[in-house]
Amino acid sequence: MSFQKLNLIEPILKALEKEGYTQPTPIQQQAIPVVLEKKDLLGCAQTGTGKTAAFAIPILQILFNEKNNNGPKGIKALILTPTRELAVQIGESFSAYGRFTRLRHTVVFGGVSQRPQVSAIRSGVDILIATPGRLLDLIQQGFIHLNQISMFVLDEADRMLDMGFINDIKKIIAKMPLKKQTLFFSATMPPEISKLAENILIDPAQVAVTPVASTVDMISQSVYFVDQSNKKSLLLHLLNQNNIDSALIFTRTKHGADRITKDIMNAGIYAEAIHGNKSQNARQNALNNFKAKRTKILVATDIAARGIDVDDLSHVINYELPEVPETYVHRIGRTGRAGLKGTALSFCNREERDSLRQIHKLIAKPIPVIEDHPFHMKIYSSELETRKPYFSRSNTRQNSRSGKNNYRRNGSQTSVY
Ligand code: AMP
Repeated sequence: MSFQKLNLIEPILKALEKEGYTQPTPIQQQAIPVVLEKKDLLGCAQTGTGKTAAFAIPILQILFNEKNNNGPKGIKALILTPTRELAVQIGESFSAYGRFTRLRHTVVFGGVSQRPQVSAIRSGVDILIATPGRLLDLIQQGFIHLNQISMFVLDEADRMLDMGFINDIKKIIAKMPLKKQTLFFSATMPPEISKLAENILIDPAQVAVTPVASTVDMISQSVYFVDQSNKKSLLLHLLNQNNIDSALIFTRTKHGADRITKDIMNAGIYAEAIHGNKSQNARQNALNNFKAKRTKILVATDIAARGIDVDDLSHVINYELPEVPETYVHRIGRTGRAGLKGTALSFCNREERDSLRQIHKLIAKPIPVIEDHPFHMKIYSSELETRKPYFSRSNTRQNSRSGKNNYRRNGSQTSVY
Protein backbone atom coordinates (compact mmCIF):
# COMPACT_ATOMS: atom_id res chain seq x y z
CA MET A 1 0.00 0.00 0.00
CA SER A 2 1.21 3.52 -0.75
CA PHE A 3 0.64 6.78 1.15
CA GLN A 4 -1.33 8.08 -1.90
CA LYS A 5 -3.98 5.44 -1.21
CA LEU A 6 -4.59 7.01 2.20
CA ASN A 7 -5.94 10.19 0.56
CA LEU A 8 -3.26 12.40 2.00
CA ILE A 9 -2.90 15.98 0.85
CA GLU A 10 -0.04 17.07 -1.36
CA PRO A 11 1.99 19.02 1.27
CA ILE A 12 2.12 15.92 3.47
CA LEU A 13 2.90 13.50 0.63
CA LYS A 14 5.75 15.79 -0.39
CA ALA A 15 7.11 15.81 3.18
CA LEU A 16 6.90 12.02 3.47
CA GLU A 17 8.78 11.67 0.22
CA LYS A 18 11.46 13.98 1.58
CA GLU A 19 11.68 11.75 4.69
CA GLY A 20 12.23 8.76 2.40
CA TYR A 21 9.08 6.94 3.54
CA THR A 22 7.78 4.79 0.72
CA GLN A 23 4.89 3.00 2.38
CA PRO A 24 2.86 3.31 5.56
CA THR A 25 3.63 0.96 8.44
CA PRO A 26 0.75 -1.29 9.63
CA ILE A 27 -0.29 1.09 12.42
CA GLN A 28 -0.30 3.97 9.94
CA GLN A 29 -2.38 1.99 7.45
CA GLN A 30 -4.93 1.26 10.15
CA ALA A 31 -4.96 4.50 12.10
CA ILE A 32 -4.68 7.26 9.48
CA PRO A 33 -8.05 6.60 7.72
CA VAL A 34 -9.87 6.34 11.07
CA VAL A 35 -8.40 9.58 12.41
CA LEU A 36 -9.15 11.37 9.13
CA GLU A 37 -12.78 10.32 9.61
CA LYS A 38 -12.60 12.17 12.94
CA LYS A 39 -13.23 9.06 15.01
CA ASP A 40 -11.78 8.42 18.46
CA LEU A 41 -9.01 5.85 18.45
CA LEU A 42 -7.62 3.32 20.88
CA GLY A 43 -4.20 2.27 19.64
CA CYS A 44 -2.26 -0.58 21.16
CA ALA A 45 1.22 -0.11 19.78
CA GLN A 46 4.75 -0.03 21.05
CA THR A 47 7.44 2.43 20.04
CA GLY A 48 9.21 1.68 16.81
CA THR A 49 6.03 0.85 14.91
CA GLY A 50 5.63 4.29 13.34
CA LYS A 51 3.05 5.32 15.92
CA THR A 52 4.04 9.00 15.93
CA ALA A 53 3.36 9.46 12.23
CA ALA A 54 0.12 7.48 12.64
CA PHE A 55 -1.30 10.34 14.69
CA ALA A 56 0.81 13.30 13.48
CA ILE A 57 -0.04 12.91 9.78
CA PRO A 58 -3.86 12.97 10.11
CA ILE A 59 -3.71 15.76 12.72
CA LEU A 60 -1.68 17.88 10.32
CA GLN A 61 -4.08 17.10 7.46
CA ILE A 62 -7.24 17.94 9.45
CA LEU A 63 -5.77 21.17 10.83
CA PHE A 64 -4.39 22.17 7.42
CA ASN A 65 -7.84 21.82 5.87
CA GLU A 66 -9.46 23.74 8.75
CA LYS A 67 -6.90 26.52 8.50
CA ASN A 68 -7.63 26.93 4.81
CA ASN A 69 -11.30 27.31 5.73
CA ASN A 70 -10.55 30.02 8.30
CA GLY A 71 -10.93 27.72 11.28
CA PRO A 72 -10.49 28.86 14.91
CA LYS A 73 -7.28 30.45 16.21
CA GLY A 74 -5.40 29.09 19.25
CA ILE A 75 -4.10 25.67 20.19
CA LYS A 76 -6.23 23.09 18.42
CA ALA A 77 -4.30 19.88 19.00
CA LEU A 78 -2.63 18.73 22.21
CA ILE A 79 -0.25 15.79 22.39
CA LEU A 80 0.54 14.68 25.94
CA THR A 81 3.57 12.46 26.35
CA PRO A 82 5.43 11.28 29.47
CA THR A 83 9.03 12.40 28.96
CA ARG A 84 10.95 15.37 27.68
CA GLU A 85 12.88 13.27 25.17
CA LEU A 86 9.72 11.85 23.72
CA ALA A 87 8.17 15.33 23.54
CA VAL A 88 11.19 16.64 21.62
CA GLN A 89 11.03 13.70 19.23
CA ILE A 90 7.35 14.16 18.57
CA GLY A 91 8.06 17.84 17.94
CA GLU A 92 10.71 16.81 15.39
CA SER A 93 8.19 14.50 13.69
CA PHE A 94 5.66 17.33 13.40
CA SER A 95 8.40 19.55 11.93
CA ALA A 96 9.26 16.85 9.39
CA TYR A 97 5.77 15.80 8.29
CA GLY A 98 4.32 19.31 8.53
CA ARG A 99 7.15 21.18 6.85
CA PHE A 100 4.96 22.24 3.89
CA THR A 101 1.74 22.87 5.83
CA ARG A 102 2.64 26.17 7.53
CA LEU A 103 1.03 24.89 10.70
CA ARG A 104 2.85 25.91 13.85
CA HIS A 105 3.70 23.73 16.80
CA THR A 106 5.78 23.99 19.93
CA VAL A 107 7.00 21.68 22.66
CA VAL A 108 6.80 22.35 26.41
CA PHE A 109 8.46 20.28 29.14
CA GLY A 110 9.95 20.83 32.56
CA GLY A 111 13.55 21.10 33.72
CA VAL A 112 14.35 24.11 31.54
CA SER A 113 13.40 27.79 31.64
CA GLN A 114 9.77 28.37 30.78
CA ARG A 115 10.45 31.74 29.13
CA PRO A 116 11.15 30.57 25.55
CA GLN A 117 8.20 28.18 25.79
CA VAL A 118 5.87 30.97 26.90
CA SER A 119 7.02 33.27 24.12
CA ALA A 120 6.56 30.50 21.53
CA ILE A 121 3.00 30.02 22.75
CA ARG A 122 2.35 33.77 22.75
CA SER A 123 3.40 33.99 19.11
CA GLY A 124 0.60 31.52 18.29
CA VAL A 125 0.67 27.74 17.78
CA ASP A 126 -1.78 25.27 16.29
CA ILE A 127 -0.32 22.15 17.88
CA LEU A 128 1.12 21.77 21.36
CA ILE A 129 3.27 18.84 22.46
CA ALA A 130 3.70 18.70 26.23
CA THR A 131 4.66 16.71 29.28
CA PRO A 132 1.96 16.86 31.97
CA GLY A 133 3.76 18.72 34.80
CA ARG A 134 4.96 21.75 32.84
CA LEU A 135 1.70 21.95 30.93
CA LEU A 136 -0.35 22.17 34.13
CA ASP A 137 2.08 24.73 35.47
CA LEU A 138 1.70 26.95 32.41
CA ILE A 139 -2.08 26.52 32.44
CA GLN A 140 -2.20 27.56 36.09
CA GLN A 141 -0.10 30.62 35.33
CA GLY A 142 -2.57 31.55 32.62
CA PHE A 143 -0.15 31.18 29.67
CA ILE A 144 -1.94 28.25 28.06
CA HIS A 145 -5.65 27.82 27.38
CA LEU A 146 -7.06 24.54 26.18
CA ASN A 147 -10.57 25.74 25.35
CA GLN A 148 -10.01 25.51 21.58
CA ILE A 149 -8.70 21.93 21.60
CA SER A 150 -10.42 19.76 19.02
CA MET A 151 -7.85 16.93 18.87
CA PHE A 152 -6.18 15.33 21.86
CA VAL A 153 -3.54 12.60 21.82
CA LEU A 154 -2.61 10.72 24.97
CA ASP A 155 0.66 9.02 24.11
CA GLU A 156 2.24 6.14 26.07
CA ALA A 157 -0.63 6.04 28.55
CA ASP A 158 0.78 3.04 30.44
CA ARG A 159 4.04 4.89 31.02
CA MET A 160 2.09 7.89 32.28
CA LEU A 161 0.57 5.57 34.87
CA ASP A 162 3.99 4.15 35.85
CA MET A 163 5.36 7.64 36.26
CA GLY A 164 2.50 8.80 38.47
CA PHE A 165 0.95 11.22 35.96
CA ILE A 166 -2.59 9.90 35.98
CA ASN A 167 -4.03 12.62 38.21
CA ASP A 168 -2.30 15.36 36.24
CA ILE A 169 -3.80 13.91 33.08
CA LYS A 170 -7.27 13.91 34.55
CA LYS A 171 -6.84 17.57 35.53
CA ILE A 172 -5.66 18.45 32.03
CA ILE A 173 -8.56 16.60 30.40
CA ALA A 174 -10.99 18.55 32.59
CA LYS A 175 -9.67 21.78 31.04
CA MET A 176 -10.47 20.77 27.47
CA PRO A 177 -13.83 20.98 25.71
CA LEU A 178 -15.91 17.82 26.05
CA LYS A 179 -16.45 17.70 22.32
CA LYS A 180 -13.16 16.74 20.75
CA GLN A 181 -11.47 13.84 19.00
CA THR A 182 -9.31 11.74 21.31
CA LEU A 183 -6.53 9.36 20.28
CA PHE A 184 -5.28 7.10 23.01
CA PHE A 185 -2.05 5.11 22.64
CA SER A 186 -0.61 2.57 25.01
CA ALA A 187 1.77 -0.35 24.56
CA THR A 188 0.06 -2.33 27.31
CA MET A 189 -3.45 -2.14 28.74
CA PRO A 190 -3.35 -2.60 32.51
CA PRO A 191 -6.81 -2.28 34.17
CA GLU A 192 -6.38 1.37 35.22
CA ILE A 193 -5.47 2.31 31.69
CA SER A 194 -8.40 0.54 30.07
CA LYS A 195 -10.68 2.24 32.61
CA LEU A 196 -9.27 5.65 31.71
CA ALA A 197 -9.68 4.81 28.01
CA GLU A 198 -13.31 3.82 28.59
CA ASN A 199 -13.96 7.11 30.36
CA ILE A 200 -12.47 9.43 27.79
CA LEU A 201 -13.07 7.71 24.45
CA ILE A 202 -16.39 7.68 22.63
CA ASP A 203 -17.04 4.61 20.52
CA PRO A 204 -13.37 4.35 19.53
CA ALA A 205 -11.96 2.46 16.59
CA GLN A 206 -9.37 0.04 17.88
CA VAL A 207 -6.08 -0.66 16.21
CA ALA A 208 -3.37 -2.94 17.50
CA VAL A 209 0.01 -3.87 16.14
CA THR A 210 2.72 -6.11 17.54
CA PRO A 211 1.42 -6.61 21.07
CA VAL A 212 4.00 -5.83 23.68
CA ALA A 213 4.34 -9.46 24.68
CA SER A 214 5.59 -10.53 21.27
CA THR A 215 8.93 -8.85 20.86
CA VAL A 216 9.82 -7.70 17.40
CA ASP A 217 11.00 -10.70 15.45
CA MET A 218 13.79 -8.82 13.75
CA ILE A 219 15.59 -8.35 17.06
CA SER A 220 18.08 -11.06 17.91
CA GLN A 221 18.04 -11.53 21.68
CA SER A 222 20.51 -13.28 23.92
CA VAL A 223 21.43 -13.45 27.58
CA TYR A 224 24.80 -13.75 29.31
CA PHE A 225 24.98 -15.31 32.75
CA VAL A 226 27.62 -13.33 34.56
CA ASP A 227 28.62 -12.45 38.11
CA GLN A 228 27.94 -8.84 39.06
CA SER A 229 31.68 -8.31 39.59
CA ASN A 230 32.39 -9.46 36.01
CA LYS A 231 29.76 -7.39 34.24
CA LYS A 232 32.15 -4.53 33.56
CA SER A 233 34.78 -6.86 32.03
CA LEU A 234 32.13 -8.60 29.92
CA LEU A 235 30.82 -5.27 28.68
CA LEU A 236 34.28 -4.07 27.65
CA HIS A 237 34.97 -7.45 26.05
CA LEU A 238 31.82 -7.12 23.95
CA LEU A 239 32.39 -3.47 23.08
CA ASN A 240 35.87 -4.31 21.84
CA GLN A 241 34.46 -6.77 19.36
CA ASN A 242 33.99 -4.79 16.20
CA ASN A 243 30.42 -5.69 15.32
CA ILE A 244 28.93 -3.08 17.63
CA ASP A 245 28.34 0.09 15.63
CA SER A 246 26.22 1.85 18.19
CA ALA A 247 24.87 0.69 21.51
CA LEU A 248 22.35 1.94 24.00
CA ILE A 249 23.21 0.51 27.41
CA PHE A 250 20.57 0.38 30.12
CA THR A 251 21.30 0.61 33.81
CA ARG A 252 18.92 0.63 36.72
CA THR A 253 20.33 3.69 38.46
CA LYS A 254 21.67 7.12 37.54
CA HIS A 255 24.78 6.44 39.58
CA GLY A 256 25.28 3.16 37.72
CA ALA A 257 24.95 4.96 34.38
CA ASP A 258 27.70 7.41 35.36
CA ARG A 259 29.99 4.69 36.67
CA ILE A 260 29.68 2.54 33.55
CA THR A 261 30.18 5.54 31.29
CA LYS A 262 33.43 6.27 33.12
CA ASP A 263 34.56 2.63 32.77
CA ILE A 264 33.90 2.68 29.04
CA MET A 265 35.71 6.00 28.62
CA ASN A 266 38.67 4.65 30.60
CA ALA A 267 38.83 1.82 28.09
CA GLY A 268 39.24 4.39 25.31
CA ILE A 269 35.71 4.26 23.88
CA TYR A 270 33.73 7.48 23.78
CA ALA A 271 30.49 7.23 25.72
CA GLU A 272 27.93 9.57 27.23
CA ALA A 273 25.32 9.12 29.94
CA ILE A 274 21.76 10.34 29.94
CA HIS A 275 19.62 10.36 33.06
CA GLY A 276 17.39 12.51 35.24
CA ASN A 277 20.23 14.16 37.19
CA LYS A 278 21.64 15.70 34.03
CA SER A 279 20.40 19.08 32.87
CA GLN A 280 17.96 19.07 29.99
CA ASN A 281 20.61 20.61 27.75
CA ALA A 282 23.19 17.98 28.66
CA ARG A 283 20.65 15.24 27.93
CA GLN A 284 19.68 16.74 24.61
CA ASN A 285 23.33 17.22 23.59
CA ALA A 286 24.16 13.62 24.49
CA LEU A 287 21.16 12.42 22.50
CA ASN A 288 22.07 14.59 19.50
CA ASN A 289 25.66 13.31 19.57
CA PHE A 290 24.42 9.75 19.67
CA LYS A 291 21.94 10.28 16.86
CA ALA A 292 24.60 11.94 14.73
CA LYS A 293 26.92 8.98 15.48
CA ARG A 294 29.48 11.26 17.14
CA THR A 295 29.03 9.08 20.24
CA LYS A 296 29.09 5.33 19.80
CA ILE A 297 27.77 4.41 23.23
CA LEU A 298 24.94 5.98 25.17
CA VAL A 299 24.30 4.80 28.72
CA ALA A 300 20.80 5.50 29.98
CA THR A 301 18.27 4.87 32.70
CA ASP A 302 14.80 3.76 31.64
CA ILE A 303 13.04 7.04 32.19
CA ALA A 304 15.66 9.08 30.34
CA ALA A 305 15.65 6.63 27.45
CA ARG A 306 11.90 6.43 27.06
CA GLY A 307 11.03 6.69 23.42
CA ILE A 308 14.56 7.49 22.28
CA ASP A 309 14.42 7.13 18.56
CA VAL A 310 17.75 6.57 16.86
CA ASP A 311 18.02 5.40 13.29
CA ASP A 312 20.21 2.33 12.80
CA LEU A 313 20.81 1.56 16.45
CA SER A 314 22.60 -1.78 16.18
CA HIS A 315 22.65 -2.92 19.82
CA VAL A 316 20.72 -2.58 23.05
CA ILE A 317 22.58 -3.88 26.08
CA ASN A 318 20.81 -4.54 29.37
CA TYR A 319 23.64 -4.15 31.87
CA GLU A 320 21.02 -4.85 34.46
CA LEU A 321 17.71 -6.54 33.83
CA PRO A 322 14.63 -4.46 34.58
CA GLU A 323 12.34 -5.57 37.37
CA VAL A 324 9.23 -4.85 35.33
CA PRO A 325 9.21 -7.28 32.37
CA GLU A 326 7.39 -4.86 30.03
CA THR A 327 10.35 -2.53 30.43
CA TYR A 328 12.53 -5.17 28.77
CA VAL A 329 10.31 -5.04 25.70
CA HIS A 330 10.38 -1.25 25.67
CA ARG A 331 14.15 -1.27 25.99
CA ILE A 332 14.89 -3.71 23.20
CA GLY A 333 12.37 -1.94 20.98
CA ARG A 334 14.94 0.86 20.62
CA THR A 335 16.73 -1.34 18.12
CA GLY A 336 15.17 -3.20 15.19
CA ARG A 337 13.12 -0.14 14.33
CA ALA A 338 11.14 0.31 11.17
CA GLY A 339 12.03 -3.19 10.03
CA LEU A 340 15.81 -2.93 10.50
CA LYS A 341 17.79 -5.69 12.19
CA GLY A 342 18.82 -5.24 15.80
CA THR A 343 20.56 -7.09 18.59
CA ALA A 344 19.60 -7.09 22.26
CA LEU A 345 22.10 -8.47 24.79
CA SER A 346 21.22 -8.90 28.45
CA PHE A 347 23.44 -9.54 31.45
CA CYS A 348 21.93 -11.65 34.18
CA ASN A 349 23.50 -12.27 37.57
CA ARG A 350 22.27 -14.61 40.26
CA GLU A 351 19.91 -12.03 41.80
CA GLU A 352 18.34 -11.24 38.45
CA ARG A 353 17.12 -14.75 37.73
CA ASP A 354 13.61 -13.88 38.77
CA SER A 355 13.50 -10.84 36.48
CA LEU A 356 14.64 -13.05 33.61
CA ARG A 357 11.99 -15.59 34.42
CA GLN A 358 9.33 -12.84 34.33
CA ILE A 359 10.62 -11.64 30.96
CA HIS A 360 10.47 -15.17 29.54
CA LYS A 361 6.91 -15.42 30.75
CA LEU A 362 5.92 -12.14 29.14
CA ILE A 363 7.52 -12.80 25.77
CA ALA A 364 6.45 -16.45 25.98
CA LYS A 365 9.81 -17.78 24.94
CA PRO A 366 13.22 -18.28 26.50
CA ILE A 367 16.06 -16.00 25.46
CA PRO A 368 19.03 -17.99 24.14
CA VAL A 369 22.05 -18.09 26.46
CA ILE A 370 25.52 -17.24 25.18
CA GLU A 371 28.09 -19.29 27.06
CA ASP A 372 31.02 -18.71 24.79
CA HIS A 373 32.70 -15.79 26.57
CA PRO A 374 35.42 -15.51 29.22
CA PHE A 375 33.08 -14.47 32.05
CA HIS A 376 30.38 -17.11 31.87
CA MET A 377 29.03 -17.76 35.35
CA LYS A 378 30.25 -21.34 35.86
CA ILE A 379 27.89 -22.12 38.67
CA TYR A 380 25.02 -21.75 36.28
CA SER A 381 26.50 -23.83 33.55
CA SER A 382 26.26 -26.93 35.74
CA GLU A 383 22.86 -25.91 37.04
CA LEU A 384 21.62 -25.39 33.55
CA GLU A 385 23.07 -28.58 32.22
CA THR A 386 19.99 -30.72 32.80
CA ARG A 387 17.68 -28.05 31.44
CA LYS A 388 20.00 -26.92 28.68
CA PRO A 389 17.73 -27.98 25.83
CA TYR A 390 15.38 -25.18 26.78
CA PHE A 391 18.03 -22.55 26.52
CA SER A 392 20.63 -23.43 23.95
CA ARG A 393 20.42 -21.30 20.85
CA SER A 394 19.82 -24.21 18.51
CA ASN A 395 16.70 -25.21 20.41
CA THR A 396 15.13 -21.81 20.69
CA ARG A 397 12.91 -22.02 17.68
CA GLN A 398 11.20 -25.24 18.53
CA ASN A 399 10.86 -24.27 22.18
CA SER A 400 9.48 -20.84 21.55
CA ARG A 401 6.26 -22.49 20.45
CA SER A 402 5.83 -24.39 23.65
CA GLY A 403 5.86 -21.17 25.69
CA LYS A 404 5.12 -21.64 29.36
CA ASN A 405 5.94 -25.33 29.40
CA ASN A 406 9.58 -24.35 29.21
CA TYR A 407 9.35 -23.30 32.80
CA ARG A 408 8.44 -26.72 34.07
CA ARG A 409 10.96 -29.27 35.11
CA ASN A 410 10.06 -32.92 34.98
CA GLY A 411 6.42 -32.01 34.83
CA SER A 412 6.55 -30.00 38.04
CA GLN A 413 5.69 -26.32 38.42
CA THR A 414 9.23 -25.47 39.47
CA SER A 415 10.97 -22.84 37.40
CA VAL A 416 13.91 -23.68 35.24
CA TYR A 417 16.35 -21.99 37.56
P1 AMP B 1 7.85 5.65 16.14
O1 AMP B 1 7.22 4.33 16.39
O2 AMP B 1 6.85 6.71 15.85
O3 AMP B 1 8.79 6.04 17.24
O4 AMP B 1 8.72 5.54 14.78
C1 AMP B 1 9.84 4.70 14.66
C2 AMP B 1 10.75 5.05 13.51
O5 AMP B 1 10.17 4.68 12.27
C3 AMP B 1 11.09 6.53 13.37
O6 AMP B 1 12.49 6.62 13.12
C4 AMP B 1 10.34 6.99 12.16
O7 AMP B 1 11.03 8.03 11.50
C5 AMP B 1 10.29 5.73 11.30
N1 AMP B 1 9.12 5.64 10.43
C6 AMP B 1 7.84 5.94 10.77
N2 AMP B 1 7.02 5.70 9.73
C7 AMP B 1 7.77 5.24 8.73
C8 AMP B 1 7.49 4.81 7.38
N3 AMP B 1 6.25 4.79 6.91
N4 AMP B 1 8.53 4.42 6.63
C9 AMP B 1 9.79 4.40 7.13
N5 AMP B 1 10.13 4.79 8.38
C10 AMP B 1 9.13 5.20 9.18
